Amino acid sequence: MPNSLHNTEQRAAAAATGDKSVSVALAGNPNSGKTTIFNSITGGRQHVGNYPGVTVEKTEGAGKHGPANLSIIDLPGTYSLTAYSAEELVARDVLIHDKPDVVIDVLDAGNIERNLYLAVQIMELGSPLVLALNMSDVAERRGIRFDLDMLSKLLGAPIVPTIGNKGQGKTELLDAAVKMAKRSYSPELRRIDYGPEIESQIAMLQERIDGASVDISGAPSRWVAVKLLEGDSNVSRQIGDTDLIEAVDKSIEHLKSIFGDSPEALIADRRYGFISGACQEAVCSTAESRHSASDRIDEVVLNRVWGLPIFLGLMYAVFHLTFTLGDPAMGWIESGFEWLGGTVGGFWAEGSESLLRSLIVDGIIGGVGGVLVFLPNILLLFLAIAILEDSGYMARAAFLMDRVMHKIGLHGKSFVPMLIGFGCSVPAIMATRTLENRRDRLTTMLVVPLMSCGARLPIYALIIPAFFPGPWHAPILWIIYMIGILLAIVCAKLLKTTILKGETPPFVMELPPYRTPTLRSVGLHMWNRGGAYLKKAGTVILGISILLWAIQQWPGLPEDQTRAFAAQRTAIEAKADLSDEARDEQTSAIDYAEAQAALEASLMGKVGGGLEPILRPCGFDWKTSTAMVGAFAAKEIFVAQMGIVNSLGEEEDEESKPLRAKLQAAYTPLQGFCIMLFCLISAPCMATIAVTKREANSWSWALFQLAGLTVLAWVVTAGVYQIGRLIV
Ligand code: GDP
Ligand code: MG
Repeated sequence: MPNSLHNTEQRAAAAATGDKSVSVALAGNPNSGKTTIFNSITGGRQHVGNYPGVTVEKTEGAGKHGPANLSIIDLPGTYSLTAYSAEELVARDVLIHDKPDVVIDVLDAGNIERNLYLAVQIMELGSPLVLALNMSDVAERRGIRFDLDMLSKLLGAPIVPTIGNKGQGKTELLDAAVKMAKRSYSPELRRIDYGPEIESQIAMLQERIDGASVDISGAPSRWVAVKLLEGDSNVSRQIGDTDLIEAVDKSIEHLKSIFGDSPEALIADRRYGFISGACQEAVCSTAESRHSASDRIDEVVLNRVWGLPIFLGLMYAVFHLTFTLGDPAMGWIESGFEWLGGTVGGFWAEGSESLLRSLIVDGIIGGVGGVLVFLPNILLLFLAIAILEDSGYMARAAFLMDRVMHKIGLHGKSFVPMLIGFGCSVPAIMATRTLENRRDRLTTMLVVPLMSCGARLPIYALIIPAFFPGPWHAPILWIIYMIGILLAIVCAKLLKTTILKGETPPFVMELPPYRTPTLRSVGLHMWNRGGAYLKKAGTVILGISILLWAIQQWPGLPEDQTRAFAAQRTAIEAKADLSDEARDEQTSAIDYAEAQAALEASLMGKVGGGLEPILRPCGFDWKTSTAMVGAFAAKEIFVAQMGIVNSLGEEEDEESKPLRAKLQAAYTPLQGFCIMLFCLISAPCMATIAVTKREANSWSWALFQLAGLTVLAWVVTAGVYQIGRLIV
């Protein structure tokens, strides 16, 4: 990079001699007032020529600001920095090759959104940037108000309002420019997030660019990667690496096939989304002059009064549809597994109770089937979320929630993972990747399990009808969900004010234009998340089911007890005066007693019994405690476990009347509520802990989550139970 080297030497020499010379480049859209500002700084002392090799006018001049000698170049007026016009190529070449000490981007305050498009691209080049909010008199007359502090924070660059033709703001502008020039880079410039698909292509290309030490005279490799994806012919010609160009073409094709649109258009959308979000936050216009369809939709959905109710209504519709549309498919899967269990079980001769049969039918098919039953619900929820995300609405939801989330020290962006958490914590924790700040990311990850996931629903479906009358079903369910949300808020606030304390840089909640989601991209997003759930069913849950089955079988009843039960059965068979009905009844009573005795003797029964004293303050007996052991492995398992420990012998699902009746007889509604409460709050399933470990890249955070939530569950549940007992 001969140019920048030269420049560094010059800077060093200047510093040594105390000569404060600052090179300034003036950028801006045509008619933003660049030349006016240029003239007022240089006092009209300018040279006009042409850029070498092109017939684009080049104006250079000198000026002074305090002790600083300014050398100023007036860049050609452009709206963008593409390779489509000579002006744009010249402007970006100056920024890349000459590396001015500071770039002043002159914005027309009356057309701020369009003007910021250039600013955002200068930001992406990493140039030290100062923004001049010119024509501020015109903007004021038109009723446009700026929250300059906010805008400056969001963009990460100083902003100075100016009125070029009156020379107003010139001193402040040059102060800011000279101050910025002392730094060799702009540390606070914001980076635009192009979304997971494009970002992963950028990261891949960036790695190759860095690896191949391809050098566009010191342009940042991220910028080069973005330009290549935009199909910038000028950059790809300079690269000349055919392998890399081939990789770029593949990336472009890949993105096209997902989104049905060129990466160039998608990238422009995200840039506009960034600007739109920043302006929505920091610019307020009394004279409404926005006309695009996106803007008109935003006027409704981002409305201060209507925005939140619309969003909550939409979410309600999503949850409602998820569960109503999912029900039939749930039934199919259920009967499919029943059939499978029956068929496979049929391979063994009637009456021969082999261990292997029990392992396959009860342990594997029963366990995994119990989990896969929720797949339709989960896929539907992910489908709805993917549609909302791809259409651009989710960005609005995050924008709306930003204000609320700020109160607990988080960003609106944390809201999306939390929403996904209602489906399943595993993909929700993976979705925290969009959060750039690690403290925010950890906080979100740790509290996501408090969003009641789909796997807890069967527990509520079992317990609520067992203990509460019909009109109370919906309100109780609502209360459970709200308790989760409130606890998440309290915990997040607590974490952000203690161990994860620290300032979070404000960032722009992007508002990309709405677009019709493509089938491919929606399907892809749905499968990526649904796949995580399937994987959990196929790996963790399969293993756990087998393990639980094993500790429930082992060590089994002592020989003499088995014989005693068998003898009782024979005795009943021998009684000639019994009716068939009475005989069946008595036999099943013996079966029941034997199963119960076997369970108490098993390792699982021992573990549950051992936990019982600890969980007693929460209102749990040894049966509930034992079922909680299963629930810790995966929440879905609780219902089946409850069935097993209540010794009904066969596989239970949440619809089973007898189990409900048994629970109703054995426990109070308060105990029922406490069971739900504990399942809601306590350590999420093992898969969640495992994914937290992977995403936080540390066992300590995963174990902290596990221990923290379990202790919290105990404290809250015990509190509710003890206080509740006094009242009820
Ligand atoms: P350039 O194309 O960016 O170089 O824009 P010019 O410097 O040629 O300015 C375009 C027009 O805007 C000129 O008539 C200027 O006098 C006028 N102008 C520049 N700055 C301001 C300002 O802050 N307020 C108003 N009202 N007019 C301005
Ligand atoms: Mg001009």
